Amino acid sequence: MVDPATGFHALGLTPALLSVIESVGYKNPTSIQRAFIPRVLSGADVMGQAQTGTGKTAAYLLPFFQRWQETDQQDPAALVLVPTRELATQVCEEAQRLTQHKNLNVVPIYGGRPMDTQVRALRRGAHIVVGTPGRLLDHLSRGTLMLHQVRYQVLDEADRMFDLGFRDDIRRILRRCPMDRQTLLLSATMPTDILTLAKSYMRKPIIHLQMSPKKVTIDKIRQSYFTVDTENKFELLCRVIEREQPRQCIIFCERKIGAHRIYTKLCSERKRVATMHGDLQQSQRERIMKAFKEGKIVYLVATDVVGRGIDVMGISHIINFDLPMDPENYVHRIGRTGRMGKDGAAVSFVTPEEGKELTRIEDYINKIITEDKLDDFVAYTPRVKNPDEPREVKPIFGRRGRRYSQRL
Ligand code: AMP
Repeated sequence: MVDPATGFHALGLTPALLSVIESVGYKNPTSIQRAFIPRVLSGADVMGQAQTGTGKTAAYLLPFFQRWQETDQQDPAALVLVPTRELATQVCEEAQRLTQHKNLNVVPIYGGRPMDTQVRALRRGAHIVVGTPGRLLDHLSRGTLMLHQVRYQVLDEADRMFDLGFRDDIRRILRRCPMDRQTLLLSATMPTDILTLAKSYMRKPIIHLQMSPKKVTIDKIRQSYFTVDTENKFELLCRVIEREQPRQCIIFCERKIGAHRIYTKLCSERKRVATMHGDLQQSQRERIMKAFKEGKIVYLVATDVVGRGIDVMGISHIINFDLPMDPENYVHRIGRTGRMGKDGAAVSFVTPEEGKELTRIEDYINKIITEDKLDDFVAYTPRVKNPDEPREVKPIFGRRGRRYSQRL
């Protein structure tokens, strides 16, 4: 039911935009939308930290649509920077769905697609460009993209955009945008050092909205872990799938080669399996994402290329076949499930040597992850020299680490 006091009507949006919002079926704004939209409409630079899957894309797109006016300007008025090609496609789809302007062109710019098609799209006039840093820089250096008209710039998954891999590229891109621009940053996680760096690109005063700082993972997601020896991981995966019967799931691996190996093995056990990683051709990546979104693929064995922002409502389970290298990635990965208030489950495989990593994740999310077990499968063998002797429990890392080692 639409709530007149807290509905989209209360946010200062135009009737034309409200009717598009109604037609796509959004009844009430999410909390990030409620907090973000009026502040962005006021012209401020805003940083929004909110749980993943809570409507961040619409939160930054709607204010732009509200203010965009048709002119004969060919160069982009808005630039949205995203870390992955899949997220770029998704943002473009959401923009096309949500705009009231029939003549507004949204152009995705990312690698793996022919340059000349993108050049033609840019020449026809691009009002919003949604892109990944590498390909945007290619266009900038060839002079096929100009950013001097950008008034509105968004860094989606901002912490990722400012981490070391992308930092220089971002600096070079943002230097091409005019000083007088509005900057918006969105992410579920924002480490302090990145926050300081990100702020240096924004005009003061900066509004920093933290929707639920202590709860970076969504409560509705059931989180558990198995202690498992590396050689038993695949068997455990099959058993967990058998027990959980996921509607759709992503099985995350740290490396492309690992993802490919698990994918090949899983194909002999299950139907509707696919893999997704950076070594695939762009056309394959797009085909797989489409099939996954349509529910034709049930098991997606992937690296972190799909760890961020990807919105597939059918995902009921996330399986961390390999624990992520850093706690932020854990939050992003498991945020692929439990979207828009739905339930979800995240199961992580932890080798006995990875106690420290699990502890760091638990500290970061401020929550103890429940230990999981299967009645008929022993996934690891305790490292005891003489089974008759009592086992010495060595505290490993900090408070939670000690607890983890005692759990073994
Ligand atoms: P996002 O966090 O932007 O990836 O959005 C997650 C999902 O929520 C997407 O499928 C959106 O289309 C959807 N969504 C965004 N805002 C709303 C809203 N106010 N009501 C219902 N669904 C929404």
